[in-house]
Amino acid sequence: MKRPFIFVILSAITLLTGSWGFFAHIRINRLAVFTLPTGMSRFYKSNIHYLADHATDADKRRYADTAEAPRHYLDVELYETQIDSIPAKWNDAVKKYGISQLNKNGILPWQIQRTYFQLVSAFKLKDSVKILIHSAFLGHYIADAHVPLHTTENHNGQLSNQYGIHAFWESRLPELFAGTYNFLVGRALYIDDPLKETWKIIRHTHQLVDSALVTEAELNRRFPSYRKYSYSKRNKQVMKQYSFEYARSYHEAMNKMVEKQMRASVLAIGSFWYSAWVDAGQPQLENMIKTKPDLAAERETMELNRKFSSGKIIGREN
Ligand SMILES: [Zn+2]
Repeated sequence: MKRPFIFVILSAITLLTGSWGFFAHIRINRLAVFTLPTGMSRFYKSNIHYLADHATDADKRRYADTAEAPRHYLDVELYETQIDSIPAKWNDAVKKYGISQLNKNGILPWQIQRTYFQLVSAFKLKDSVKILIHSAFLGHYIADAHVPLHTTENHNGQLSNQYGIHAFWESRLPELFAGTYNFLVGRALYIDDPLKETWKIIRHTHQLVDSALVTEAELNRRFPSYRKYSYSKRNKQVMKQYSFEYARSYHEAMNKMVEKQMRASVLAIGSFWYSAWVDAGQPQLENMIKTKPDLAAERETMELNRKFSSGKIIGREN
């Protein structure tokens, strides 16, 4: 009876192309723990498995909650021709665009801000379960903000005949090459203004959209289809994917873009966690070292996993 179970998991993983892919999200949340100062690092290290295991809960929630999908992206061009014309603050954005347009075109920066405040209040309450939940979610959204294809209308290359580039960039490349990336990113830094920092991150990420797309389009012209894709067999299913050769050429042509964005994600997540703790008055975390999620939280996770492995994303995929 084991085979069908394994098969379901694999298809679920291949289906999920929402953000950075499972592999990278897990890695990024894990690595962020090592940027933290004393006062925080023991608690986070003791719970590093939780933070890694739950790095993808935000994506799984897209299968269970209609409100979740737009929290992972910001389609800049659908708002304005210049990113700086988008109001930085949520209330101003609501006034300018209205809720339904926001929910269609993405609310990633404000979701980061909201999750940040949730983390600050969890620290103030010294609620270890909530600290972990909001840290895991915040890590996810900040990592998404570093993926160029999460900041554009052309989020899966569908407007430029490059369909599939989203998962190629954020899943296939890190899965193949993360072993060669340098993840020594230094210490978490205090952020004065988390919303301003979020916009700074997204502005930079959005600048990378062109070169991510143009580089792939150039490569595409040089590679015939039989070299661009490779096929492998998994449980009697034939899987089509970008070939190793094609992936390596893209990786080399992009001048470490994926590595740089992954590194920046790690440092930013550590810095946001650290700043939330400072903003909450640096509560003692020592006496709540090992945390077990309560029954309700565990049940919610099980429900998320169930919907995720059997279901369909509500709303847009990427
Ligand atoms: Zn995501």
